[in-house]
Amino acid sequence: MKSAGEKDRWSEDVGRGGRHAVVVGGSLAGLLAAHVLAAHVDRVTVVERDRFPDGTKPRPGVPQGRHPHVLLQGGQVALESLLPGFLAELGEAGAPRVGMPSDMVLWQTGRWFRRVPATTHIYTGSRAQLEELVRRRVLANPVISTAEGADVVGLLGDASRVRGVLVRDRSGDARAEPRQLAADLVVDASGSGTKAAQWLATIGAGTPQEETIDTGLAYASRIYRGAKGILDGDTRGYYAYPDPEQVHAGGALPLEDGTHLVIVSGLRGDEPPTDDDEFVTYTKRLPHPLLHRWLSEAEPLSPAFGYRRTANIRRRYDLPGTPAGFLATGDALCTFNPIYGQGMAVAAMSALALREALADRRRTPTTRRVQQALLAASRQAWDISAGADRKMPGAVGSAVDGGPADQVAGWYLRRVQERAPGDPVVGRAFRAVLTLAEPVSALFAPPVARAVLFRPPLPSPTEPPTAPEEPAA
Ligand SMILES: Cc1cc2nc3c(=O)[nH]c(=O)nc-3n(C[C@H](O)[C@H](O)[C@H](O)COP(=O)(O)OP(=O)(O)OC[C@H]3O[C@@H](n4cnc5c(N)ncnc54)[C@H](O)[C@@H]3O)c2cc1C
Repeated sequence: MKSAGEKDRWSEDVGRGGRHAVVVGGSLAGLLAAHVLAAHVDRVTVVERDRFPDGTKPRPGVPQGRHPHVLLQGGQVALESLLPGFLAELGEAGAPRVGMPSDMVLWQTGRWFRRVPATTHIYTGSRAQLEELVRRRVLANPVISTAEGADVVGLLGDASRVRGVLVRDRSGDARAEPRQLAADLVVDASGSGTKAAQWLATIGAGTPQEETIDTGLAYASRIYRGAKGILDGDTRGYYAYPDPEQVHAGGALPLEDGTHLVIVSGLRGDEPPTDDDEFVTYTKRLPHPLLHRWLSEAEPLSPAFGYRRTANIRRRYDLPGTPAGFLATGDALCTFNPIYGQGMAVAAMSALALREALADRRRTPTTRRVQQALLAASRQAWDISAGADRKMPGAVGSAVDGGPADQVAGWYLRRVQERAPGDPVVGRAFRAVLTLAEPVSALFAPPVARAVLFRPPLPSPTEPPTAPEEPAA
C-alpha cells in the first residue's frame, strides 16, 4: 500500500474527473457509492449478481430483506443529503414514520419506556421498498450503468494497485474464463459475505485484518395482520431489546401496507424456530406476554424466515498492505449485529463520507485516506454494537476483549440504560446516540451526566403503557 503522501494514481484520475469506476454489488451501499462516484468519473459500472426486480419484490442477493429494517435518523439525514427529497418520496410510498418513544411500546433492561413526545423518528417500511426507491433515483443517472446477473469472481492488478475485476455472467458457461472489466477504481460493496480478502490474496496483495464479535444471535421474522386492539391507533409497534439478563428480543413493526413484521431473536443454542406454531410459542420467552397475546389473535400472512449470520465483522483495509485503487464500503467493510438496526444508515453515512473525502480540495484523496474516512463513518455504530455484544453471554471472536476503558464505558452505559425509560432528558440523549444522530459525547452532556451519576432512576411504567403521554404544558 502506498503511504498517504505518495503518488496514488487512481485518486488523481478520479479527482480530475477521469475514467472508470466499478462497484461490486448493487444494494444500498453499492448504489449510494456509485451515486457519489458518478460526480468524479466518466463511467461507473455497478456489477450485481442478481437481476434487479421490477418493483419491490425481495431478491436472493439480499436474504436479510425479509427481516425488519428500520432506517435510523443518522441514515435519514445522510440519505436526504445524498438524494434530496428522498424522505418525502419514502413517506409518499407509505413507509411508516414512527415516533420514538411516543408511538411504540418499548421495553429495555427490565423497564417500560414512558411514552413521552417523540425526540426521534424511525422509518419501518420494508427494505425492498427503500432499496427500490434508492435504485430508481441512482440509476437514472446516465453516467451509471449496470451489469446484472453477473458475479465478480476476482480482481485484476497486483500487490500495489487494483486495475479492475473478473466477471462471470450467470447466464453464461460456468466453465468459461471470466471476462475482464478494467477500472481505475474498484469499490467492494458486496455485503457481509464478501470474498475480497481471497481476491486480494490471489493478486498477491495484502489482506485485511478482521475484528469479529459473534453472539450467535439468530432471527426469525414473519408478516402478520393484527387484530384491532393492542397495536393500532396511537400504538404503532412494540419492541423488547435484548440485554445480558434477557437475551431474547422481539417485537412487531408496521410495514407500508398496514401489516406488521414480527421478529423474535435468541442466542446460540436457543435459536428461534421457523415452524408456524413454535414461532408463536417462542414469543413466551419475551419479558411480557403482550406479543404472544397479539399473535394469538393476528393472522399470519407469510411463513417465518430465519437468519443466523449476525456477527459483527470489521475489515481493516485502512492499514498498510491494501493496494491503491481498491476501497470497501457498507457491510463489506463493517457488518453489525443487525439487532441494532444500523447497517443501512451506515451505508448512507459512508457514501456521505466518500463524497466529502473526494471533494476535499485541501488533501489528495488517496486510497488510504478515503478508506480511513469510510471506516470513520462506521465507527460509532461499531462502538455501539461491539460494546453491547461484548457483554452478551457466549460472545466469541477476536475483538471480544474490549479492555479496561470498555469496562468503565459499560458501567456508565448501564446507568444510562436504567434511566432512559423514565427520564426524558437521559432518554433523548440515549436515542440520539443510538440512532446515530448525535455523537456518543451527547451522553456526557452536563444535564445527562448529572442524572446518570448522581440521581436514582426516575419512575417508569409498571405495565406496557397503552397510550402516548400528553406533551408537558
Ligand atoms: C437480518 C438482518 C436485519 C437487518 N436489519 C437492519 C435494520 O433494521 N436497519 C438497518 O439499517 N440495517 C439492517 N440490516 C443491515 C442491512 O441489511 C445492510 O447493512 C444494508 O443492506 C447495506 O448492505 P450492503 O449494501 O453493504 O450489502 P447487501 O445489502 O448485503 O448487498 C450486497 C449486494 O452485493 C451483491 N453481491 C454479493 N456478492 C457479489 C459478487 N461477487 N458479484 C456481484 N454482486 C455481488 C448481492 O447480490 C447484493 O445485492 C440488517 C441485516 C440483516 C442481516
